[in-house]
Amino acid sequence: MTVRTRFAPSPTGYLHIGGVRTALFSWLHARQHQGQFVLRIEDTDLERSTPEATAAIIEGMQWLGLDWDEGPFYQTQRMDRYAEVLQQMLAAGTAYHCYCSKEEVEQMREEQRARGEKPRYDGRCRHRHEPRPGIQPVIRFRSPDEGETVVEDLVHGTVRFQNQELDDLIIARSDGTPTYNFCVVVDDWDMGITQVIRGDDHLNNTPRQMQILRALGATPPQYAHVPMILGPDKQKLSKRHGAVSVLEYREEGFLPEALLNFLVRLGWSHGDQEVFSRAEMLSYFRIEEVHRAASAFNPDKLLWLNAQHLQVLSTEDLAQRLHPYLLAAGVDATAIEAGPALAAVVPLLRERAKTLVEMAAAAKMFYRAPQQAEEKDLDKHLRGNGPLLAAAAAAFAALTDWTVADLHQALQTLAQAHAEGKLGKVAQPLRVAVAGCAVSPPLDQTLAVLGRTETLQRLQYAQSWL
Ligand code: GLU
Repeated sequence: MTVRTRFAPSPTGYLHIGGVRTALFSWLHARQHQGQFVLRIEDTDLERSTPEATAAIIEGMQWLGLDWDEGPFYQTQRMDRYAEVLQQMLAAGTAYHCYCSKEEVEQMREEQRARGEKPRYDGRCRHRHEPRPGIQPVIRFRSPDEGETVVEDLVHGTVRFQNQELDDLIIARSDGTPTYNFCVVVDDWDMGITQVIRGDDHLNNTPRQMQILRALGATPPQYAHVPMILGPDKQKLSKRHGAVSVLEYREEGFLPEALLNFLVRLGWSHGDQEVFSRAEMLSYFRIEEVHRAASAFNPDKLLWLNAQHLQVLSTEDLAQRLHPYLLAAGVDATAIEAGPALAAVVPLLRERAKTLVEMAAAAKMFYRAPQQAEEKDLDKHLRGNGPLLAAAAAAFAALTDWTVADLHQALQTLAQAHAEGKLGKVAQPLRVAVAGCAVSPPLDQTLAVLGRTETLQRLQYAQSWL
């Protein structure tokens, strides 16, 4: 049977990393079995669903490269189908109209509590077919009274539910709208889903969903309920911990590869390997190997993984990805065009940067001459070094070739003449002069990429700061 999995977010909030991990596991499972991956937007909660959240889910999935084969399907567009299945169930007697008023149900519950029983609907409308004036009935699923429903969960193992604990669930409200558990069942059935991979907050819904599927004559899919992600303090993940829209990670300069790698390792491992390419995740991941216990989010590890993935991208690829971050850092497109090729700048920065935002901040100096060095750097490194700037400018102007090796040699010579051979003593002032601050990649490489004209202009301009 072809494997078909789905990701079924509710667009009531942004796509956060918990959702992305579920999507990733479902996507991996489908792709590694040459199956299909379906995207379904569960938007029946009209009050809380927003088009912005739907758009952000789709954009997030696209950014992460979690491509889907079918959908997005929207539950709000499937209302006719739910109505049709409800009618079938009513006709077959697997569902019935319930005319109990709210007050009646409440009274029933109170009596049960008074007797020390767990409150549950007692099924009294199963045999009551007469409409009651003034009451729009709900539709309830007629659930089995005896036996048990067993979930053979791929993550949690065998989980047993006693059927007598599960009362007759409302599957359509009195205004006729289908309820959440019912829509999920019809969708998973119609969409031929073979493995339902979702958060373990849904485990308690599963026996009811299986019962409804069986009542429809369908074979329930397999289920895999994956544990929650906790914050570093082992508390439920909140905004404070990074339970924000996944697109914020993009803004902060994380690579999708790193975020997916980070998420695949939350609750799953493969020996002691930490860094996984997409291809490695696809070959090694097994849904059955996901741990049952919740796993904690470690932001330092995400940063570390991001740095690892920055190292392995090709220069061209990295240059392309850096471009929008440079724009966001305030460098305009024409300056990037006119300045050194990004592909020449990237190799100087990649080893030091943990995020694309950091890399863009460090790349800025190649495209924008400093207006003024920072006061502390000026004071510490530049004041009193006017003669050195002039000598460097003269030496650089006299170079036949503008290569790293020639620049290195020129810096050595300057160090002999001005600083008893101490390279740092000449490099720091020159660095502050051309970069505006005391941090940059090695100076010979920086100047080689910056170019002679720009270097000489900056050295000259820096003299005006003294
Ligand atoms: N829409 C549900 C949610 O966002 C997921 C339901 C499911 O995967 O079955 O929690």
